Amino acid sequence: MEHMTAPAPAPAPRRVLLAAPRGYCAGVDRAVIAVEKALEQYGAPVYVRHEIVHNKYVVQTLEKKGAIFVERTEEVPEGNIVMFSAHGVAPVVHEEAARGRLATIDATCPLVTKVHKEAVRYAKEDFDILLIGHEGHEEVIGTSGEAPDHITIVDGPHDVDKVTVRDESKVVWLSQTTLSVDETMETVDALKTKFPLLLSPPSDDICYATSNRQAAVKVMGADSDLVIVVGSKNSSNSIRLVEVAKDAGAKAAYLVDFASEIDEAWLEGVTTVGLTSGASVPEVLVEEVLEWLAARGYGDVEIVKTAEESITFSLPKELRRDLRAEAAELVADK
Ligand code: SF4
Repeated sequence: MEHMTAPAPAPAPRRVLLAAPRGYCAGVDRAVIAVEKALEQYGAPVYVRHEIVHNKYVVQTLEKKGAIFVERTEEVPEGNIVMFSAHGVAPVVHEEAARGRLATIDATCPLVTKVHKEAVRYAKEDFDILLIGHEGHEEVIGTSGEAPDHITIVDGPHDVDKVTVRDESKVVWLSQTTLSVDETMETVDALKTKFPLLLSPPSDDICYATSNRQAAVKVMGADSDLVIVVGSKNSSNSIRLVEVAKDAGAKAAYLVDFASEIDEAWLEGVTTVGLTSGASVPEVLVEEVLEWLAARGYGDVEIVKTAEESITFSLPKELRRDLRAEAAELVADK
């Protein structure tokens, strides 16, 4: 008698779960367009203090168009135009630009400006401000520069023990806009245990784009074997997406700037790949990853949509002025 062998089970279909929303937020879109407009209107070079947004591709593309990125205001030769990045700057940087006879364009995201204003207001009321955020991050440097004598940086729940305040009845917390929503709540809870009268900001400081991208990754990551986050290594919100994906249950999650950085070995035994991108990442980079995955059998793409976004911001008002003439006048007035 012939032996019948059961047919091998069909391999599970490979697929990609594509998170939505992902990629550019309104603040990044505005800042990148502001550099492009400035180059069009005033001609190169336009100096930009710090990376306009934390993305390698965006910075390289703008450099090719004539933007010059510097870390310090003093590096910009007098009589030029300097733009401040989406992360915001401390008042002292505006003073440096005035001393250096520079015309300025402020591309600070309006949602970062909102946190600056809160810091100024609470400092005026003589509150101790506990700023939850990553020490050394450009945005945190800018916000704390608004009221250096009133602000203490709290870099996560582990930092709470060492926090001291002058008057426990006059303490408020604020935060960086691109933190992990869950970890920030942990930090706030620990702070509230220590300072029961701790005041909360009037509205969320973690911005809509950060929260929405994390919410989508939570849903998508739970069903993914591997999550790929497109974003740069210095992008706070992108790094948080990797952490959120792992917490949501993804077996592995990696951050890549470009499709070429993906390691074929990551796909071993992987049926479902989750894909998203940070708030400073242009969609073209996600499309390249989709092509890379399709070429390896992951051509079936399902969108995991958890929110609609329709926020836009108007361009910096300085772009309506003749900044070349203003810069020349500053030098002539010397
Ligand atoms: S991530 Fe949020 S705060 Fe940062 S630029 Fe985008 S919208 Fe503004």
